[in-house]
Order: sequence, then structure tokens, then C-alpha cells
Amino acid sequence: MGTPVNIIVGSHVWVEDPEIAWIDGQVAEIKGSDATIVTANEKTIVAAISSIYPKDTEAPPSGVDDMTKLAYLHEPGVLYNLACRYGLNEIYTYTGNILIAVNPFRRLPHLYDTSMMEQYKGAAFGELSPHLFAVADTCYRSMINEDESQSILVSGESGAGKTETTKMLMRYLAFMGGRSGAEGRTVEQQVLESNPVLEAFGNAKTVKNNNSSRFGKFVEIQFDRHGKISGAAVRTYLLERSRVCQVSDPERNYHCFYMLCAAPPEDAKKYKLGDPRTFHYLNQTNCYEVANVDDAREYLETRKAMDVVGINQDEQDAIFRVVAAILHLGNIDFIKGKDIDSSKLKDEKSAYHLQTVAELLMCDKKALEDSLCKRVIVTPDGNITKPLDPAAATTSRDALAKTIYSRLFDWIVDKINSSIGQDPDAKSIIGVLDIYGFETFKINSFEQLCINLTNEKLQQHFNQHVFKMEQEEYTREEIDWSYVEFVDNQDVLDLIEKKPGGIIALLDEACMFPKSTHETFAQKMYQTYKGHKRFSKPKLARTDFTINHYAGDVTYQADQFLDKNKDYVIAEHQDLLTASRCPFVANLFPSLPEETSKQSKFSSIGTRFKQQLQSLMETLSTTEPHYIRCIKPNAVLKPGIFENFNVLNQLRCGGVLEAIRISCAGYPTKRTFDEFLDRFGMLAPDVLDGYEEKSACIAICDKMGLKGYQIGKTKVFLRAGQMAELDARRAEI
Ligand code: ATP
Ligand code: MG
Repeated sequence: MGTPVNIIVGSHVWVEDPEIAWIDGQVAEIKGSDATIVTANEKTIVAAISSIYPKDTEAPPSGVDDMTKLAYLHEPGVLYNLACRYGLNEIYTYTGNILIAVNPFRRLPHLYDTSMMEQYKGAAFGELSPHLFAVADTCYRSMINEDESQSILVSGESGAGKTETTKMLMRYLAFMGGRSGAEGRTVEQQVLESNPVLEAFGNAKTVKNNNSSRFGKFVEIQFDRHGKISGAAVRTYLLERSRVCQVSDPERNYHCFYMLCAAPPEDAKKYKLGDPRTFHYLNQTNCYEVANVDDAREYLETRKAMDVVGINQDEQDAIFRVVAAILHLGNIDFIKGKDIDSSKLKDEKSAYHLQTVAELLMCDKKALEDSLCKRVIVTPDGNITKPLDPAAATTSRDALAKTIYSRLFDWIVDKINSSIGQDPDAKSIIGVLDIYGFETFKINSFEQLCINLTNEKLQQHFNQHVFKMEQEEYTREEIDWSYVEFVDNQDVLDLIEKKPGGIIALLDEACMFPKSTHETFAQKMYQTYKGHKRFSKPKLARTDFTINHYAGDVTYQADQFLDKNKDYVIAEHQDLLTASRCPFVANLFPSLPEETSKQSKFSSIGTRFKQQLQSLMETLSTTEPHYIRCIKPNAVLKPGIFENFNVLNQLRCGGVLEAIRISCAGYPTKRTFDEFLDRFGMLAPDVLDGYEEKSACIAICDKMGLKGYQIGKTKVFLRAGQMAELDARRAEI
């Protein structure tokens, strides 16, 4: 960010504060490179001049609706502006054409009703208050007028409001592109109803969000040449599989499990379900309910939504049968068997659940039991059956549950796509991306690496776009921008995904080599990336490694990377389910061609994810992007609380501060001649008469000795800090 210049005694400034991040105050004294500041809460602070920022005393108390209107574009200014607006329930603010949305954590129905949509329809961007409808409307109109596909990239941390925003964007697009008067299941209704279906199977209550999406999603809405919705496709990314068997307080498993337990008695009976407290996959945590959510009602709603998206009754029945089977599967326990290292069912209860799973999945009971506690090993002298000990049998059980669930989820997504239908002749698309934001926890594993890779990629795309937009404005105004430099994060991307040599490539190698362990994998990384600017080995670490991401350092624990990267279905499980008498279940496990099953069973989750991302980036590159950055104002999920440090961190991770940095590297302050003369005319009253506007602006800048500023066709472009310089001169008068 721009280094402030010309801070003098009496200047109003922002200074760092350990409690509220930034506090305003007035400079009382300057000694050398230090300033003494008396703050608003009457403390006296001495700080380096280079660490304080000028405050715009003329900024309206209610804030500005576009950050680029701020006299000074810097961290404290941006933060203070957002906080002021949030206090007034103004949750949307622009930074140029990026929309920042601060989660209100309270229903604001009037903000999203049909009359609001009517208002935004066709209104010029910036004419009305900032709103996601304005972004959606701009998208829709650009698509029609410029005949170009568009995308809206919604990002933010868990609980920031991405999914709610995405749903509202889709509603607006359906409003614009729907066929009025159309009866029955229209494409746009199907598109909207796909949301509750996906949420039932892909969302769960977490610490951070009562309705957290545990997968990424890109919805591509296709439009015909009349601007009407003609098809849609949903792509999903990286569903969190571990949640199916492992949940901890105060989180829950996927919503669908609780819905089914709360289903009307005839359904619950059919699937042999009841109290969720009786199922191991649900009772590892004490959380069964979500505030303001009625699982019984959600069950019926989900079924209705499934009707709309074209999942028929038989399919619905099969889906819930599989969901119930997973719950029963989790209740099968093992104890030591007769032979060494073998296992058998623990008791009658386990036998009952085994029986139930076999009935629900329509597979052979004995084959099911064997697939859980035995492995067949192929040797040159024929096949040998090896027993699994109770711990291994339990792991095998959980692997089966996870595999079935993720196949079920993919089936639902595919079904939604085929029943909504794709329009091969679509004229253009509007894509909406709702994908996990940057993550850094106490323990960061393979999932975090994939998620953070996604964010690095999106950040690069974002930077390039912001940079391009800046350049376009400079070109439009015919000013010289040749020396505005651009730093990007290609080096981090290479570190993770370059082939060969990147982390994912090393991991794949390790996974294919039978003797690898997470230790050998970590050693290999330490050797390969020794001295890499973006990679480091924490002191004393044996398998941890740190990546310097654009949003900060993240230390990853490599110990489960190998397992988590391996995507294979245990052959015994595959055979069991392929043979199911239920066509739905058998269809989830199509039999593999001979060679592939014999050849390497390893397929890499990391590499597949990387390819999916690549294809997403290719799609995005054919569209004109629009960005919405969602901000979670507090960690307690309550209205009215704005936590400064928390918000600043998100502005950093979401690239908002980076966008500002890019813009500060050029000409962060742009003022029309008019505005400029209004504010600074007093510095040279003599030039106001007689001169035409443009020359008057030049005359003022020259008289004040500014260097490096530029005059465009309609605006004055100032370098970082020059606005403060002029303001300081004004204060001297
Ligand atoms: P995750 O990454 O965990 O999926 P997310 O960013 O998708 O998180 P949402 O599920 O969209 O977060 O929002 C979390 C909660 O915040 C919502 O359930 C809702 O209660 C509230 N919320 C978000 N946006 C709005 C809004 N515009 N108006 C009212 N409430 C909102
Ligand atoms: Mg979400």
C-alpha cells in the first residue's frame, strides 16, 4: 500500500491498535521519523510515520458505497468504511466492480423480494445502492448486449454467505431468463430446486456454519438467443468424504441422515430407522439438532425438490435406502475371531445390522461380511484369503461407507444434470461459482492443500483481471501505464501443481511406490524444494511443511497425505455391490474392464482435482468475470457484531487488499476534473478563472510540485500518497 507522505502536526491519522486493529487520532508532535498521536480514546501513542495513514476527515459518516470513492485507499480506510456501513445495515459495498457482502446474520426479506428485483432490472451499475442483484443484472445485460459469456465468482470463508448469495443470484437470473407463464417443471425451477437437493446430501452443521457446504460447486446456466434459460449444468468439487464416518462435537453428519431418521413413521419403518442416537455414525457427537431447522419438514421438502429436478419415486426410494444402509453399516462392530488376526461380528446387534444392510443394498449377507473382514490376495500360486483383524475390518467398513456415499452424491449430481438437460446450441452461459475459501487450521491436511490450491488459482485469475481492468481504464483515459508492475503467484502454483516436480506430482510418485511412507515423501519434498522461496521446513519438523501462500503461511501435516490421495475402491467392495440385485446400487458400481482392475489400482485424487480445476479455469477464461467477496463479520454468527481483525484477515485472504495494492501500484486516486477542482481549487484560486478545467487541474498539480501524476481525458490520476500531500497543503491554508 502507498506510503503516506506529508503527515504533519495536526493531521488526522489512523494508527495501529492492538485491540481494534486501527484507531483514529491526531498528530501532536513529530520527531524525526516518529509521530506522537493522541487517539480518539485519548491515549498517546508514538508510532513510526511510515506506519500511520492519513484519515479523510471529509468522508461521510455513513461511509461511501464504493471504496474507490475514498480519498485514501488503504487498509484502515477500507475497514472503517465497511464497519460504518454494516452498522447501518448496509451490507453491500463496491470496490470498483468487486462487490463486498458482509453477512448480516439476520433475515432481510425486503432486500431480496420481487419488487427489489424489479428495481434493479435494467438499472445502470452504481445507480442504485450496491446489491448482488446489480451484479447479476450487469451480467445478464452484458451477456445480451455484448454477446459474451459471464461468470460470477463468489468467495469467502465458511459461513460468510457464499451459498446464500449464490442462491439469490440464481433467483435473479431465473427471474430475468425465465419464461413467464410457463407451466410445470421449467428449466429455471429445476435449476433453483437443485439447491435444496444438493444441500441435503452435501451440507452439514459445522463449528463455523449451521449449513456448511462440504463441496465446491460451479453452476453453468445456459441461455438461448432470446436470453431465456435453456439448460444448466452443475459441476461439483471435492466432497468431504470423511464426515460420513467421523464427526465431532458440535458438528453433525450430512443433513440427509437426520432427515431420514425424522421421516414419517411409514418411511422410517421401511428403512428400519429411528432415533439418530442409536447410530454410531451420528452419535459420536452430541449434536442432533440445528437451531431453527425441522428435519422432518426438510425431509418432505427434499423429496418435493427431488420431484422437481426429475428424480422419480423409485429412485428416491433407492437413494434413501442407500442412506439408511450406510447408517446400519456403521453399527456393525467386530471382535477378535478364532484365528490369529482375524475378526468376527461382535454380537447379535451387529448381526442384525449386517442383515439389514444386506437387505437394503440387496446383496448377499455372507459376501458382505467377507468383504468387510477378509481380503483376497492374488499370488502366482493362486488366490489366498487373508483375514483382517478387528481394527482393519472397522477401517474396511468405514471405507465402504465413504465410497458408497460419494458415489451416491455423484449420481445425484449427474441425475440433476441429465434431467435439467444441456442445451448444445446455447448462445452463452452465466456461470456461478460457490467454492470454499482459503483455509488455515491448527492441523492442515491434504484437503486444505487442495482447497488452498483452488484459492491460489482463483487469486491469480482475480489479480490478472483487476490488473487488466486498471489498464483498460488507463488506456481509455489515454494515460501512460507502462511502468505499473505486476507481481503474481505463479511460483506458488508451480510449487504445488507443476508436472513434473510439483508437490502433487511427488505425492503421486510416493503413492505408486509401495515402500513410501509419509516420512520418505516429506524428505523428498525437503530435498526438492530446499531454498524455494515459497516452501519451508519448520524447525524440528519431521513431516510438516510450510507453504507461503498469497494469503499467508500455512503449515501442512503430511502424515495422511498418501492415504488421502489414493482413490481406489477395494476390489471386494466393488465386486459385492456390482452384484447387487438392486439395479440402482449395481449402477453406482459399474464393473471395471479387466485390465484396469488388474493394473495399478491407484488413481490420484490430487491429480484429478488439479484437472478439474484446470477445466474450471478454462471455462472461466471464456467468460467475463464478476467478483463477490463475502465477509463473515464475527465468529459467533450473530447480527450486529463487527470484529475488525477478523474482517481484515478476510479482506486479505479474499484478495481485496491485493486488489487495492495493484491499484495503488498505479494510480489509486482518480478524480474527475470537476471533483478535483472542488476539493483543491482553493490551493490556487488564481487558476480557477479563465482556465478551462483540464488546464486548471494541471496548473494546480504543477504549482504543488507533484511528480508523476497523469492527466487523462476526463480525470486526474494521482500516485499513492499524493492525495494526502494535497490535503496537507490545503490544511495549511
Ligand atoms: P460454507 O463455506 O460453510 O458453505 P457459506 O459461505 O456458503 O459457508 P452460507 O451458508 O451462505 O455460508 O451462510 C451462512 C449463514 O449465514 C446462512 O445460513 C444464513 O443464516 C446467514 N446468511 C448468509 N447470507 C445471508 C444474507 N444475505 N441474509 C441473511 N442471512 C444470511
Ligand atoms: Mg456454502
